[in-house]
Amino acid sequence: MIERILPSDDAAALLELTSDLAERELAPRVDDFEARGEFPRDILRTLGRSGLLGLPYAEQYGGAAQPYEVYLQVLEVLAYHWLAIAEAVSVHTLACYPVAAYGSDAQREEHLPDMLGGGLLGAYALSEPRGGSDAGNLATKAVRDGDDYVLTGTKAWITHAGVADFYQVFARTGGPGPAGISCLLADASTPHITPLAREKTMGLRSSPIAQIAFDDARVPADRLIGEEGTGFRIAMSALDSGRLGIAACAVGLAQAALDYAVTYAGEREQFGQPIASFQGIGFMLADMATQISAARALMLAGARLRDAGRPYSVEAAKAKLFATDVAMKVTTDAVQVLGGYGYVSDHPVERYMREAKVLQIVEGTNQIQRMVISRSLGKR
Ligand SMILES: Cc1cc2nc3c(=O)[nH]c(=O)nc-3n(C[C@H](O)[C@H](O)[C@H](O)COP(=O)(O)OP(=O)(O)OC[C@H]3O[C@@H](n4cnc5c(N)ncnc54)[C@H](O)[C@@H]3O)c2cc1C
Repeated sequence: MIERILPSDDAAALLELTSDLAERELAPRVDDFEARGEFPRDILRTLGRSGLLGLPYAEQYGGAAQPYEVYLQVLEVLAYHWLAIAEAVSVHTLACYPVAAYGSDAQREEHLPDMLGGGLLGAYALSEPRGGSDAGNLATKAVRDGDDYVLTGTKAWITHAGVADFYQVFARTGGPGPAGISCLLADASTPHITPLAREKTMGLRSSPIAQIAFDDARVPADRLIGEEGTGFRIAMSALDSGRLGIAACAVGLAQAALDYAVTYAGEREQFGQPIASFQGIGFMLADMATQISAARALMLAGARLRDAGRPYSVEAAKAKLFATDVAMKVTTDAVQVLGGYGYVSDHPVERYMREAKVLQIVEGTNQIQRMVISRSLGKR
């Protein structure tokens, strides 16, 4: 049981609702869906109906106006039970961000209620086959033609490819580098937007991830979010928020691994006693618990800066870096605590370990987080 200090009774009720929903809807289905690689679209609808797909956004547009620190703890609870679902909520929230933060009033009124109400599922299309880390050099083009932009190019690694209702696409409308990039909101049903073959991933197997081809796809010009040339700034600003979400996913996953390992170590006997009584195991569990507490504290510190309207990019990078490295270490150690039984799919820890790896890669690899942090050092 984690001791949480929540900012309101509302937040406490929300966390309880999320736990109940996760125990009822997620826990019984995760193994089956992960084994079959099937995306549980109906669960996302249930989360939407329960108000969990628009938590940090304004009530005026159908959001719940919850502080980011509360939203992150909801994600943590979801990740505890099923990482792919938490990741789906995090990606959807990321995909809504450009409209919520940079859209015109008319765009917000038109698009946000359906996005936040759970009717629509979003995807965030930044990465490309030739570049993920160096997103400022992306090649997908958007050329103005009358009342439309015509999109050509290929996006890569897109979570929710083929199941999303809308794609938040970053494409080049101007010259080279970040200043030539713009942000466009495209309906997934737009002709000539085609999801390609699904990637065969190490973990997150229920989550559809694929390249998306844009082959002269026409997107109405009124779907430009912000001004032409501001797309890279929008993308990076969205990722600041998203990285805190990935940290929350990592904390929830690591906590699940620790709790499983603790229970197992209390039951498994060797040399006539529970393995938890051996200092070698007990100290490993103690380190895992300590690392998770530290990761949660760092994540909440970043969220509280964001909630206070203060700069938080660097703290978000630190939280993403630290929490995802902790998740990798803790899930690997959980496999070790279970010995041979940790290496087979009869227990969830091997899945946790496979899933943790991706968190060190998405939304800026941990090398990129170190770049963000190191560049900030020495600056006032
Ligand atoms: C499961 C999954 C889901 C994803 N979902 C999405 C999504 O929904 N939307 C989306 O847009 N993208 C998504 N991505 C893409 C993800 O963001 C990229 O994979 C990531 O940014 C890295 O890009 P890359 O794979 O091209 O690796 P590269 O950029 O080619 O990097 C390769 C290696 O070089 C290192 N490296 C690169 N530059 C530097 C540097 N300057 N200094 C030090 N090291 C460096 C990287 O850290 C990495 O270790 C997803 C990826 C995965 C695996």
